[in-house]
Amino acid sequence: MKLYNTMSKKKEEFVPLEKGRVKMYVCGPTVYNFIHIGNARPMIVFDTARRYFEYKGYDVNFVSNFTDVDDKIIKKAIEEGVTADEISKRYIEECKKDMEGMNVKPATTHPLATEEIGGMIELIQTLIDKGFAYEKNGTVYYRTRKFEDYGKLSHKNLDDLRSGNRSLLVTGEDEKEDPLDFVLWKPKKEGEPAWESPWGEGRPGWHIECSEMSKKYLGEQIDIHAGGEDLIFPHHENEIAQSEAANGKEFAKYWLHNGFLNIDNRKMSKSLGNFFTVREISGKYDLQVLRFFMLSAHYRSPLNFSAELMEAAKSGLDRIVTAAENLRFLLKNAQAEDMNESEKDAFAKTREYVENFEKAMDDDLNTADAVAAVFELVKYANTTADGESSREYLQGILDVLVKLTDVLGIIVEKKEELLDADIEALIAERQAARKEKNFAKADEIRNELLERGIILKDTREGVQWKRA
Ligand SMILES: [Zn+2]
Repeated sequence: MKLYNTMSKKKEEFVPLEKGRVKMYVCGPTVYNFIHIGNARPMIVFDTARRYFEYKGYDVNFVSNFTDVDDKIIKKAIEEGVTADEISKRYIEECKKDMEGMNVKPATTHPLATEEIGGMIELIQTLIDKGFAYEKNGTVYYRTRKFEDYGKLSHKNLDDLRSGNRSLLVTGEDEKEDPLDFVLWKPKKEGEPAWESPWGEGRPGWHIECSEMSKKYLGEQIDIHAGGEDLIFPHHENEIAQSEAANGKEFAKYWLHNGFLNIDNRKMSKSLGNFFTVREISGKYDLQVLRFFMLSAHYRSPLNFSAELMEAAKSGLDRIVTAAENLRFLLKNAQAEDMNESEKDAFAKTREYVENFEKAMDDDLNTADAVAAVFELVKYANTTADGESSREYLQGILDVLVKLTDVLGIIVEKKEELLDADIEALIAERQAARKEKNFAKADEIRNELLERGIILKDTREGVQWKRA
């Protein structure tokens, strides 16, 4: 299996540090709002990578953090007049709901930055002791010039960066020894969450969080470190500088980065009005469609999100789900039990599609070609399975389809439709929750119904509902 390594700018054969195991760290979101569809891309593509490793028999230790202390979280907390902790806890829960909708498996461990401060302080102290960090007025900086390999991941010209950054220095940063030095620990500001440290009360910088959480849950050396390409510099470059200076070992063997997501061929931004949260998308589409859409392109290519492409993804996904439904229907009514000779030959041919699928995935996780192999299999199932087919043949071909779609994280079983009585009962429960002013619960029920394709409309005469 080959993976494109940002470090070497080449596709390299994947060789795990430890036979049969993969240690993988994916930088998680900063939780100050609902996640947007740009956040969804690394979640989906690296979950698919994990699933493929598992398909190949690897035992995968998959760690993905939540950054739950950050300027944006503090700003949001101040706006709402609540604690930063309340904001981060709320959006971690919401993020997990979106992940579930996108069928992203929970990580082996989802560490929270605020629960790992002790380890971060120790790591910073190690860097100071080794001469890789220094303290100035309560702030601890990383000494980039001391780390000779600084810049090896991003392949940037550091002298250009240094002269560029010099003019960008903000007040208070003139105490740095070098413009590229970055913050490991910052002193407390009034009203902000803070922790005790040898350098006074304060909080960690963003980069040190990942170095510590990766080390604690995966060890000093890992196989794969991944994230969006916007993280290459400075975040991942800084993580390497911290981890390798502190541990004296190569940090990660393979660095994987997904490409940008554009909206209607433009960069996603709030000011352009083309900014979408995953939750907003879930109001229009089953999030399986979003997942399928994301996998229709290679993870390193830029991906353009548009209504047209989402519609195409929806009908593509529909074709696969319908084929699986059809096989299940035929299975229920099949007469013959075992495969006859011609069915055995026909079934042997499905091996070709599996091989094509694996070949695509082995080539740097080319999900676009893997999806094409699934479509070929679907076409084959549709043309060879019918009312005459044996149970063994139908089950065999369905199993192959489920096995491959499971690697992509695509669920090919339609959710059971809710009965009218169940819907009425949930609506009554929601009304009761609203009466008690438990709006969180009321919203939860509304969302649950929406996920099952039931749209509610509050009118003066009461609640009306319809199936989407
Ligand atoms: Zn990170």
